[in-house]
Amino acid sequence: MTVVTDAFTARHGRAPAGVWSAPGRVNLIGEHTDYNDGFVLPFALPHRAVVAAAPADGPVSRVRSVQEPSGAVEFSAASVVPGDVDGWAAYVAGTCWAFREAGHPVGEVELELDSDVPVGAGLSSSAAVECAVGVALAGLAGVEIGATELARIARRAENEFVGAPTGGMDQMASVHGRAGRLVFLDTRDDTVELVPFDLAAHGLELLVIDTRAPHAHAGGEYGARRADCERAAAALGVPALRDAVLADVERLPDDRIRRRARHVVTENERVLEVVRLLAADADPREIGPLLDASHTSMRDDFEITVPHVDVAVEAARDGGAVGARMTGGGFGGCVIALVPAGAVTAVTTTVQQAYAERGWTAPLVFPGTPSDGAGRVG
Ligand code: ADP
Ligand code: MG
Repeated sequence: MTVVTDAFTARHGRAPAGVWSAPGRVNLIGEHTDYNDGFVLPFALPHRAVVAAAPADGPVSRVRSVQEPSGAVEFSAASVVPGDVDGWAAYVAGTCWAFREAGHPVGEVELELDSDVPVGAGLSSSAAVECAVGVALAGLAGVEIGATELARIARRAENEFVGAPTGGMDQMASVHGRAGRLVFLDTRDDTVELVPFDLAAHGLELLVIDTRAPHAHAGGEYGARRADCERAAAALGVPALRDAVLADVERLPDDRIRRRARHVVTENERVLEVVRLLAADADPREIGPLLDASHTSMRDDFEITVPHVDVAVEAARDGGAVGARMTGGGFGGCVIALVPAGAVTAVTTTVQQAYAERGWTAPLVFPGTPSDGAGRVG
């Protein structure tokens, strides 16, 4: 935060009007359920995008990122439309556009961005940028915007300005996240419930393992999974797989379609079971088998894991994790492991050794602590 504030002050000779931030996220459970009208259970990470901003003096907005040394990108926040800006600044300009489209006033801004959310690791660095910019625009305009509306503006920027056809989980987690809480989201109607997830009180940690595996064919495979789910829903005569029951799914004649649908239906059940356990104040260790079952389902039924991911999951369990699974869309990205505090070193070392033995790039391992969502920080 101080880095970006100091950079702003040094460049402009005045302090920013404010500093705002928004986090990346990790999904505890509920994978590929979002486009099936189902349930997801992400939480906000401590890693965040931070924005220092002030109204601009002239008719142009200028935005910079510490992570993009090529310099400032200029556009008019008051008139920018999709197609005007590409590259990283599209996430910023797109949020200005979507904010305006939602009927809110947008003036020109000087904006500095800094983020410690790893880019492209499936931790939603893009939503962190959009939500940080969105909350900054609201602050600069002096308008009160509800968290869910802010998430919708951020998602619109990503879908319609950047052109990435993503669901709304990332932005909802980034705005609704709270320290010590999971964001239980029903993607059918965007209702949110915060669920307690106090790991420290139970002597546990949730480790995030960034496998740094190359993302192979993720785009095409994502589209293929969505199409399979739509075919399954059509064959079952339900509006979405959220409405399907397992007994009917098991009677689907096509083996691949049956397995795809089985993943979605059982994954929704696992999300609900995790929420039920945690809301009833159970020991979080009890969700371990559900995390494991989620991984098996993604590996065997949905077929979206890759060797880097499967090896990290196996090694984490060998090292003492009470549950582990891939998180995110698949074909690389991150693994999460629920680990007794005393086994953190053993789990980390076991995963690192498994990678070293195979000659793979060392994974990054860090604690994922549920943290606060988007807001003003200075
Ligand atoms: P992720 O899984 O990290 O969200 P995406 O491909 O959706 O991956 O978004 C990554 C993109 O978001 C980057 O390529 C960049 O354009 C933009 N981005 C994220 N963080 C920053 C940052 N700190 N500065 C500039 N652009 C950023
Ligand atoms: Mg993203």
